[in-house]
Amino acid sequence: MNGDWLQADPAALDAADPLSALRQEFLVPPHGDGEQAYFCGNSLGLQPRGVREALLQELDDWARLAVEAHFRGRHPWMPYHAEVRDGLAAIAGAGPGEVVAMNTLTVNLHLLMVSFYRPTPERPAILIEAGAFPSDRHAVTSQLRFHGYDPERDLIELEPDEPGGIISMASLERCLAEHGRRIALVLWPGVQYRTGQAFDLKEVVRLAHAQGCLVGFDLAHGAGNLPLALHDSGADFAAWCSYKYLNSGPGAVAGAFVHARHARSERPRFAGWWGHDQATRFRMGPEFVPTPGAEGWQLSNPPILALAPLRVSLEIFQKVGMPALRERSRRLTGYLEAQVRARLDRVLEILTPADPARRGCQLSIRVRGGRGRSRELFEHLMARGVIGDWREPDVIRISPVPLYNRFTDIARFVAEVEAWAGIGGTQA
Ligand SMILES: *Cc1c(COP(=O)(O)O)cnc(C)c1O
Repeated sequence: MNGDWLQADPAALDAADPLSALRQEFLVPPHGDGEQAYFCGNSLGLQPRGVREALLQELDDWARLAVEAHFRGRHPWMPYHAEVRDGLAAIAGAGPGEVVAMNTLTVNLHLLMVSFYRPTPERPAILIEAGAFPSDRHAVTSQLRFHGYDPERDLIELEPDEPGGIISMASLERCLAEHGRRIALVLWPGVQYRTGQAFDLKEVVRLAHAQGCLVGFDLAHGAGNLPLALHDSGADFAAWCSYKYLNSGPGAVAGAFVHARHARSERPRFAGWWGHDQATRFRMGPEFVPTPGAEGWQLSNPPILALAPLRVSLEIFQKVGMPALRERSRRLTGYLEAQVRARLDRVLEILTPADPARRGCQLSIRVRGGRGRSRELFEHLMARGVIGDWREPDVIRISPVPLYNRFTDIARFVAEVEAWAGIGGTQA
């Protein structure tokens, strides 16, 4: 990246980028007389303005039409899933038949593992990264036990081999060469939640498939953050939540991907009536005939009030497109990184890889001088309306989101760190 623009005035950088206007589509929480510098989209994305209206509309249709809103609502409830299908497919880089909005992330991981984790005595193991998000670890250990295997022996956790908790592809390759014949499933993050490291999904799939393992991705921190190409990656399945970068609200309906090659899979699955072939679902017959593709993994009729925000949010993504958002994201995070290195190097250490190809928007940082100092800075920032989040033991995550963060938000972060550390000349 050409370095000159990194010296530019942040307000001028905001003014020069037409995508800065996207911020107006979101409700930014107030702070004092102004607004927060909200860097926490990795945890809960901001509310799109259109969500309130969309929810009220569903409440109205329920009131006016009740059961008939399934067919006569302004967004009829019966085919509602189809209204988010193309948007989700664009986020996932998948065909429309490969994605579905359903349940929540951990539920989807379990449902997909029912089909795609089929251990045998020769090949019982699951590979994850060491330090995985606890829910993912609980999911895989409980799956191992459910099948009668012992996580002590059959859960393989690959330790980081680079500074800051980063895992190199060479190390993943070595691990798969050594243990691959015993591994039934590789469950891998698209972007690791604590370090912000992004992985080359296609390469992970290539290495795992070469050893005969199936591969699933947890894209909690990938969806809406990086352009994805799940179909081309060859992944067997993936799941993600929608309340982080997809801005669909607390506990929002999650997403799932099943590769087209499994569209008519006869693997075991946990079935429900909403996964039944749509053409014959309402004959209410006793036999389960799955809808081809990802929709065949649905269990229940979907929560419309929880899908409405996802529909609104995906419309924003579709209007801009992930390539343009990613381009802006690289600039914002590149700016944050450059400012930290140039002005805060004595205070802060960045854990996330410096190569933009190995990260999304998030930078994980820690204060030099230990956990106590990190915690102090975190609390100072929160009190001043600069919102990041804290991950034990000592990590502050700062995620400039291209939909609503600005270069001036980043300048505010830098000024606040300087004020706290008693360095620099900037008035905070
Ligand atoms: C956010 C997140 C979760 C949360 O799981 P839910 O089922 O949505 O509560 C799980 N795994 C990862 C990697 C996450 O980042």
